[in-house]
Amino acid sequence: MGRLTSCLLVLSVLVTAAFCVEKARFDFYRVYEVTASDEIHLKIFQQILDYPDGYKFMTTPKMLIGSTAQLIVPPHKFGEWSEWVENFKIEVKLLSNNLQEMIDKEDAATQRQRRTGVYDWSTYRSYNETYAWMESLAASRPNDISTFVVGKSYEGRDIKGLRVNIGNATGKPSIFFESNIHANEWIGSHTTTYIMNQLLTSNDDDVKALLESFDWWFLPILNIDGYEYTWNVDRTWRKTRRPTQNPLCHGADPNRNWDVSWGAFGGSNLPCSSGYYGDFVFSEVETKQLAEFLATVPNSFGYISFHSYGRLLMTPYAYTQAPVEDLQIMNGIGEKATAAISPFRGVSYRLGKISDFFGLVAGSSVDYVAINQKPKLVYCYELSNNHILPNEEILATGQELFASIKTIFTEAINLGLV
Ligand SMILES: [Zn+2]
Repeated sequence: MGRLTSCLLVLSVLVTAAFCVEKARFDFYRVYEVTASDEIHLKIFQQILDYPDGYKFMTTPKMLIGSTAQLIVPPHKFGEWSEWVENFKIEVKLLSNNLQEMIDKEDAATQRQRRTGVYDWSTYRSYNETYAWMESLAASRPNDISTFVVGKSYEGRDIKGLRVNIGNATGKPSIFFESNIHANEWIGSHTTTYIMNQLLTSNDDDVKALLESFDWWFLPILNIDGYEYTWNVDRTWRKTRRPTQNPLCHGADPNRNWDVSWGAFGGSNLPCSSGYYGDFVFSEVETKQLAEFLATVPNSFGYISFHSYGRLLMTPYAYTQAPVEDLQIMNGIGEKATAAISPFRGVSYRLGKISDFFGLVAGSSVDYVAINQKPKLVYCYELSNNHILPNEEILATGQELFASIKTIFTEAINLGLV
């Protein structure tokens, strides 16, 4: 029975007490690209982050002068916002007059294309579809492929991934992919599943050799409650869904919640902020269980984390400007990995440390992994140039990133790192 039907039934029985969750709408909300040109602009960014009152950043803004961020401005703030722009000389570019139109377009394309019933990358996939697809892969090749469960999310969903280890061999170096730690960054999980599929189906001898050489672990949707919430309630949702100390505000930013200088910088201590770093370190079951799970993954060699957006390939650290051990090796390989992206559509990615692009950020997964699991290669990508990306860009992004990932691990073999 559909959600609408069940809601109507409840309505007819319990007229006064009836309630069903509606989907958030963003009619006539504007999306701007804003540039922070001085300290005052950074203060405005932090103020909006702490006390959003309808404003929303598409992603947590970088607290660096000269950086840009996409900001959603609600209609009831048009007056205030235009005054701020005028008074504080904020450089802005209008990207959309109506955020709801962007969401509707994405919705319509997704509904139209997913009717085919085939799991492909022409459209966005719900977590159920992705899990069913992973289960079918595991069932088709039980000697090589298996699913794994990191644990249960706060709302009780399995946090499920796929492991590909040809011949079930022991001792191979392992590579772990983590995506959709931020709920609204849909392109992340779709890029992970695309890479998974290419590795398993390619006829290219180099790819087959790569597939054989490593123990591959893919966790497409870490923040599964948040992801589901973006499908059913609020497309812009970023955080987890656990209640906080403030009963009106849910969730923490799971990429500020790990045990690396937790709470020190790059987030907010206010539960209603989209950048809230959580009630305490590892307050979110999703991050805590992944940290525990990663400690059991043998022979950690590579860790890849996908976010959006910004077209960046980044190395640790986020919490300090200090270089990670092996930074030179990661940069050398990273240059080739960014170059591998360009031939497809001429898109170029920039390479650097996370702290170079974002300023200092505490509590991130890649820093935690770099410090605790010490893989030889740790990279964090900011994919694409938007959160709400047209469906036709899913495949294009997957192709670019598969080439990039192939380059990283082929290089690792060529350099004798494995
Ligand atoms: Zn992110």
